[in-house]
Amino acid sequence: MAKRATPYVPGLQLNEPNIIKLNTNENPYPPSPNVMDAIKKEGSNHLQLYPSSTTVDLRKTIGEIYGLTADEVFIGNGSDEVLAFSFMAFFEPEKKIRYPNITYSFYPVYATLFNIPVETVEVNADFTLPTDAFFNSEGGVIFPNPNAPTSLYLPLDEIEGIIQNNPDNVVIIDEAYVDFAEGSAARLIHKYDNVLVIQTTSKSRSLAGLRVGYALGNASLIQALIKIKDSFNSYTIDRLALVGAQAAFEDRAYFDRVTNQIVNTREDVIQRLQNFGFSVLPSQTNFVFATHETYAATELYAALKEARILVRHFDQPRIENYLRITIGTEEEMNVFFEKLKDIVKV
Ligand code: PMP
Repeated sequence: MAKRATPYVPGLQLNEPNIIKLNTNENPYPPSPNVMDAIKKEGSNHLQLYPSSTTVDLRKTIGEIYGLTADEVFIGNGSDEVLAFSFMAFFEPEKKIRYPNITYSFYPVYATLFNIPVETVEVNADFTLPTDAFFNSEGGVIFPNPNAPTSLYLPLDEIEGIIQNNPDNVVIIDEAYVDFAEGSAARLIHKYDNVLVIQTTSKSRSLAGLRVGYALGNASLIQALIKIKDSFNSYTIDRLALVGAQAAFEDRAYFDRVTNQIVNTREDVIQRLQNFGFSVLPSQTNFVFATHETYAATELYAALKEARILVRHFDQPRIENYLRITIGTEEEMNVFFEKLKDIVKV
């Protein structure tokens, strides 16, 4: 009989012209031009050969950014795969794990697939995480920082408290959006052996289409992930992805420029949304989470879609009246506000 599974539903990927896609938190800018150069070169020389099964060169490059060795870095096919492997490696079927009740909707999917019991933690009235409620979990903790879809950042001293108060379990910090935020928990890795930090090239490095995610943690946690991967597929990262991601990490100036640009646009977007009567949570991501005092989110979602602008709406208690809006280019956001003018009367 087929195993019970409830698949994750990703945001719409409409490949139609003239659509402004602000619904899946992709980067609106292309990757560094060096990425395409590296991919072309690799593609014309080596595609008949299997890629590296250890991905050691890329692990070394990523490690250097955080003062870690290649042994403290694991690479996966997008951070979703790294998350799936982490659920398999660190969470057990008899022990309840904790994550926030408002969070990345792939966690319940993995918990169901791998038979991991869950105690969800109710977020505070302002959507911040109640740190103490994650202390002394039975089987481990996972949450994004910044959280999705709320965009809120939990300061590192609070994260440290959660790690200290789960000494026998792994605490996984999903940092998909951390490059738009204050700072990474990677600095805690040499202090604690029970923290695993997961990041991705999909957002800040504009490589959602290439599928490269990674985990940072002490060497024994990384070894546990490698064991899972090698029991599953030796070659999860293809040659083009390996060299493309490598080129993206090496072009630090491009990365700084793009992330700064998105953060600046975000601050401008928050201000403009407030002028339209929206309340916007204090975002540390490449998206904002906003609610309007008079217009229902479903109504706004539909009107924006009609105007060929896609945003994301979650039909879920407490956030059903919010929209998650990805930060696009300045031009895209200008069009967004032009259309909004026809929808929201101020
Ligand atoms: N974690 C969070 C919180 C996310 O929002 C996403 C993007 N949907 C991911 C992980 C997965 O990103 P990717 O698989 O593209 O690395």
